[in-house]
Amino acid sequence: MALEHIIILGAPGSGKGTQASRIARERGLAHLSTGDMLRDAVSRKTPLGLEAERFMKGGLLVPDGIIFGLIGEALDASKDKGWIMDGFPRTVAQAGELSRMLEKRGEKIGSVLVIDVDPELIVRRLANRRVCPKCKAVYNLDTIKTRVPGKCDACGAAIVKRPDDEEATVRTRLEVYARETAPIIDFYRKVDGLVVVNGAGDIEEIFAEINRVLK
Ligand code: AMP
Repeated sequence: MALEHIIILGAPGSGKGTQASRIARERGLAHLSTGDMLRDAVSRKTPLGLEAERFMKGGLLVPDGIIFGLIGEALDASKDKGWIMDGFPRTVAQAGELSRMLEKRGEKIGSVLVIDVDPELIVRRLANRRVCPKCKAVYNLDTIKTRVPGKCDACGAAIVKRPDDEEATVRTRLEVYARETAPIIDFYRKVDGLVVVNGAGDIEEIFAEINRVLK
């Protein structure tokens, strides 16, 4: 059977990271998240992390040279596995480069899943988002509360607000998404199977809908 290769697209705060990790768990796929790879490099203060941090803090895209290196390594590390790619590609140029990388490796994208959410709902969601810096679990002060206030349910670490979840940075990230990333949807409409899911509701219901629409 062919390995499953999925791309998940959606604005920051659309819930794509949460859904991607569930899809990965359910289907036994590697979860390739460029945002997580970059945050890991930032927290380890590697040269790559220090370079990337300047862009991430402002809600801007990190240069392609850094991103292509990370994705190349991630594809090499998961070459015998299926994967779901989250946060990449983010521009039409990155989508073109991904097509070339996959062609070289004899791999193909099976599905492109778009999570569609109204930008104003996203601004509210991200104001309340908290993350665990240790195990990467994601919470929301309104909707996904921790059992003990301020402490991660999974590992007990103190949960934090991501620096790029401040409202001004969120607005920049949404603008970058509309300008740079949303055009990819048309790119994949022509090239590969594209499915769109409404991301406004409950996490469980959205996950069930994703399982219905993914082939
Ligand atoms: P995310 O967790 O996907 O929202 O990514 C957080 C930040 O990492 C973004 O706002 C960008 O600064 C950077 N980033 C993640 N993926 C990419 C990418 N494919 N290209 C450029 N920058 C990226």
